[in-house]
Amino acid sequence: MCQHSPACPTSDAVDHDAARVLTTHPEQGWSLLCNGVVVFEDTGEILPDGSAVAPHRPVPRPRCGRHESLRVHAA
Ligand SMILES: [Zn+2]
Repeated sequence: MCQHSPACPTSDAVDHDAARVLTTHPEQGWSLLCNGVVVFEDTGEILPDGSAVAPHRPVPRPRCGRHESLRVHAA
């Protein structure tokens, strides 16, 4: 499947998420890697054999102003 040189890590390699991205779907939040692994933007993964990998890297959260609106204002 992989025609890159050097070849991408296979789906069962420890560094399988280092394979090249074939297609990315940012609107759906996932990318397909060269070795058949699907990586989600929260770093969760689905391997070609159907097994799932839980998110394993912290995702930076965008700052927002919602905390301000949650604050209770005393009259
Ligand atoms: Zn490849």
